[in-house]
Amino acid sequence: MAEPSRHQLSPQPPVPVRLAGARLTVLSGPSGVGKSTVVRAIRRRWPKVWLSVSVTTRPPRPGEVHGREYFFVTEGEFGQMAAAGELLEWARFAGYLYGTPCGPVAEHVAAGQPTLLEVDVAGARQVRRLVPGALLVFLAPPSWDELVRRLTGRDTEPAGVISQRLEAARAELAAEPEFDVTLVNTSVEDVCEQLVSLVAAASAP
Ligand code: ADP
Ligand code: 5GP
Repeated sequence: MAEPSRHQLSPQPPVPVRLAGARLTVLSGPSGVGKSTVVRAIRRRWPKVWLSVSVTTRPPRPGEVHGREYFFVTEGEFGQMAAAGELLEWARFAGYLYGTPCGPVAEHVAAGQPTLLEVDVAGARQVRRLVPGALLVFLAPPSWDELVRRLTGRDTEPAGVISQRLEAARAELAAEPEFDVTLVNTSVEDVCEQLVSLVAAASAP
């Protein structure tokens, strides 16, 4: 697919305008740090937090369900969504496209529901631009060696993809100062509790 053009993601009415003053929380951080693990725990234990479901062209991993972890789409379908202005933000990460459908985010924010997005650093930067009131949370590993262990130990990608993700991780770690808050993922339980408090505070009227 031709890369969807960036201007398609610039703030265009009506949806991004509805989101301009929205209060939502964005979780980001390097691949392998534990973002999906944290999101999965929140989905299980804090159902009041609404978790945005992204679209991706990546194939599902074992256990991933269409509509729960992601909407798995073709490059053509992704391109159509981007062209129609249906994505709040999108990025290419390690060879695949990922994007946040805009409509559901706008609806849940409008309903006053605590709203959490999990995106890569490029996506977080786009949300910062489009939704200046968003709270950006960076999930950091306890150490570089632990990040390598987690990414390798997950055993979901071939070696080539792991090294691609580790290379991206170096750049993503350098972006930490751009975020409002850093949480170190030593204990999933502790991170979830801290994150849920932040989401609740960020969405309070
Ligand atoms: P991400 O979504 O950020 O790419 P994952 O959630 O897939 O990362 O986690 C990568 C690996 O690290 C998984 O095998 C997961 O079980 C493990 N993991 C996540 N959080 C922790 C933690 N606090 N301590 C130890 N291992 C963890
Ligand atoms: P994974 O393939 O490991 O599920 O995700 C790869 C990366 O894409 C992770 O850093 C994840 O946070 C990010 N990601 C997931 N959904 C989105 C999205 O909608 N937009 C952007 N920009 N990144 C996403």
